[in-house]
Amino acid sequence: MADVVVAGAGLAGSVVAHLLARRKLDVVLLDAGVRISAAFGQHLSHDPRLAFGTVMRERIVQALCLPVQAVDVPRATPTPLSFSTCAVGGGAATLWTGISERSDPHDEAAQRFHARCIEPYYAEAEALLGVEPSPDDVVGRVAPRLRDAAPELRDAQFVPLRIAASREPNSPRRWITGPADLLAPSDPQCGGVTLLERHVATRIEHHAGRATALACVDVVRGAEIRLAAGAIIVAADPIRSPALLFASGLRGDVAFPLGMYLSDHPMAFAKIQATSAAGSFLSKALGPPRESIPAGLRLLRPGCEHHGLVLLEPGASDTAAATLRLYWYTTGYPTETNHLDFAALPADEYGLPTPLACLPTPLAPQETLGDMSTDLAAAAKALGEPLRGWQPRMMPVGSARHTFGTLRSAFAGSGPGVTDECGRVNGFSNLYVAGPARIPYANSSYPALAAAALAIQTGNCILSAHAAHHTTRQGPAWKP
Ligand SMILES: Cc1cc2nc3c(=O)[nH]c(=O)nc-3n(C[C@H](O)[C@H](O)[C@H](O)COP(=O)(O)OP(=O)(O)OC[C@H]3O[C@@H](n4cnc5c(N)ncnc54)[C@H](O)[C@@H]3O)c2cc1C
Repeated sequence: MADVVVAGAGLAGSVVAHLLARRKLDVVLLDAGVRISAAFGQHLSHDPRLAFGTVMRERIVQALCLPVQAVDVPRATPTPLSFSTCAVGGGAATLWTGISERSDPHDEAAQRFHARCIEPYYAEAEALLGVEPSPDDVVGRVAPRLRDAAPELRDAQFVPLRIAASREPNSPRRWITGPADLLAPSDPQCGGVTLLERHVATRIEHHAGRATALACVDVVRGAEIRLAAGAIIVAADPIRSPALLFASGLRGDVAFPLGMYLSDHPMAFAKIQATSAAGSFLSKALGPPRESIPAGLRLLRPGCEHHGLVLLEPGASDTAAATLRLYWYTTGYPTETNHLDFAALPADEYGLPTPLACLPTPLAPQETLGDMSTDLAAAAKALGEPLRGWQPRMMPVGSARHTFGTLRSAFAGSGPGVTDECGRVNGFSNLYVAGPARIPYANSSYPALAAAALAIQTGNCILSAHAAHHTTRQGPAWKP
């Protein structure tokens, strides 16, 4: 019997399992996904043939990100939806690009939540994930020349990328951090994590506000298992975590917005050949990439909600034929109308609901999206020529794969939440959520670092509850 069972060994689940095991709790971590590498949850970029930007890697990422069914509600400008979940053991965190910016809540109430629940844990999250500025930190050298070469970029600010990257032992080589690095069997202090691969969590058993056990299926043996624990953490991504709560009899409403506030960062994209003076200068300065991590920079426009990410594709980076990818992101505004419907479609073979993504409300005002598109087009023009089929364009909602908000944490001034400021599910004493599902505010940043910080915060809350229980010996036994 474990102290804590964690459902989902992706980014958030691995971070919280690592933290609790290092503090000597018995942790069972289970994951439904199929393993794609020798070590569980190893990042795709560990294989040099699959370094960032390779066509093969792109194809594998596409194949492993399973589409979530979606309804495109009629609007003045219909917007297709493109949410996905990840089928690989270790989750999206084995595929992610590693960009780890701190998040940027918009309003004052959210700032207060951020300052209390996320900011104090950033440094620990960054140390754990190995976040450093990209080694291709060319910003200081290129910014003035870029501005001179392209009038469209005159007011732009350039910022180095901050990448989560582990260092290979005895070598300067770095790779993007994934669950395998967080759960390294070579880490003696992390030996308390028992990893159950190919185990699908199907239901949380609970009684009188206490989670008592996690029911799961061992997919390989076809056996049903019941894992009792002192605390249960749901870390199965922002789409499947609410699905698991729903399957366990928890239902959403305005006071308990399970699956509501579904959000992502609206994104526009272009691929260009860096044919202009500014583009070829930038691509020469960025390349050739020396490692499996992306080379690039961020572009900010003062007074604008959006920001840009310019990444160099590996390949002919020292010639005029270099290809640049331009990802432009803006603030996603979560609203209670945008939600996951768990009752509309038949359940899967394990009895888990099949989520349907419904977004009747645009994630950002049309004007903001228009500004972002115009700016992307201007930057693309300044840097080169769009490749055929990759002209600057708005991508379907969900394409950023930055889903957040579906099990939001309540805070003063925010309206209701499913979880409290510790990530504990409302009405429960020992059931928690980890992951970007908890992020409760409008923001335009990458979700993973904030999710890791929140997972550390939840881990600390569980450690305090565990310590208090063993000091006072009050209430039911920690391990049922
Ligand atoms: C290609 C790609 C690039 C990205 N790049 C970035 C980036 O540069 N920066 C950034 O901040 N974010 C990025 N993201 C997003 C980031 O990866 C996610 O926000 C983050 O991984 C979410 O963490 P999570 O733990 O909630 O989910 P995941 O990491 O997806 O882990 C969830 C885990 O739960 C398991 N699971 C699901 N259901 C069950 C169940 N019923 N029982 C047991 N296990 C279950 C899954 O198998 C999975 O391993 C990217 C995502 C993708 C796909």
